[in-house]
Amino acid sequence: MADKITKSEAEWRRELPPERYRVLREKGTEPAFGNEYWDSKQAGVYHCAACRQALFDAAAKYDSGTGWPSFWTPVAPEAVTTEVDHSLGRTRTEILCRRCGSHLGHVFEDGPPPTGLRYCLNSAALVLEGEETAR
Ligand SMILES: [Zn+2]
Repeated sequence: MADKITKSEAEWRRELPPERYRVLREKGTEPAFGNEYWDSKQAGVYHCAACRQALFDAAAKYDSGTGWPSFWTPVAPEAVTTEVDHSLGRTRTEILCRRCGSHLGHVFEDGPPPTGLRYCLNSAALVLEGEETAR
């Protein structure tokens, strides 16, 4: 596991395109079905759009019907970390990139076997390996 990355918000704001900054650093959520990867069947590994750590393999992606890219497991348990999120009057579990602390999405307990988990992510938080950076 690579070292943690710590940058100021000013640095992140300078480096990231506005829509990525809004999701990754301001915990924004993209519209369902109105995001890049919700319906993608392309093979590869999804990386953190902020620090490029490998996060989720397309082999663990499934169609959750939610309109967001959904996975039943990260590439490694230590790739992500979670925090309890009480925003919007609900209790949810937020998923963060462990390396840089950026917001990725939320995890729910209604996913498919074998984990029963649904990692519900924002496309703007991800870069599919092999792609040119969508800047
Ligand atoms: Zn990251």
